[in-house]
Amino acid sequence: MISRSLARPAHMRLARRFASLYAAPDDRAYEAVEVRETRSIGRALVAVKVVHADEPVLTFRAKVAAVKSRFSVQVGRDEHTSCKDDQIFMYMNHSCKPTCRLALVSREGAGASGEVEVAVVARRELSPGEPVTFDYNTTEWAMAEPFTCNCATSHKCTVGGASAFSADERERWLCGPNGGHAWAHITQLLAEAGSH
Ligand SMILES: [Zn+2]
Repeated sequence: MISRSLARPAHMRLARRFASLYAAPDDRAYEAVEVRETRSIGRALVAVKVVHADEPVLTFRAKVAAVKSRFSVQVGRDEHTSCKDDQIFMYMNHSCKPTCRLALVSREGAGASGEVEVAVVARRELSPGEPVTFDYNTTEWAMAEPFTCNCATSHKCTVGGASAFSADERERWLCGPNGGHAWAHITQLLAEAGSH
């Protein structure tokens, strides 16, 4: 028998290590969400009140780092959120049919001394208890640790960042709803990859 924790993707198992959400360095109150222990995927960020479509579920600030990790969010070509501290974005799981999307609110400073503010925006109305998820391919070009998403029953859905797309997937994705939520560095890199 395979234990459930072994069956879980590594990034989800390791999310359990981050016990205290409330030490987030940006020191904000997150009224619409909380981190909950879920039966299927371990610790995950969920909505605790109704959030209407296109409204921010939360915003978070993070320092910019040149190195990525399994928990970072890519915010530019060679820029990722720093994951030194226990921060709220580390609890957002991937979904190929996500409830939310990420949007850059502001960017201060250059390179690794920079800081970003990012909004997590509801793609549709969220009810209390629903997970706060986004499509990792909308921000990640080449993920530090690709994993298998369990959204598909007919085939294995591997999430590795947009660089792992086939030419076919690239076309389909850029025309689909998730592609429309891709950050500028992703659409630029996809366009460059397509022209080769
Ligand atoms: Zn999937």
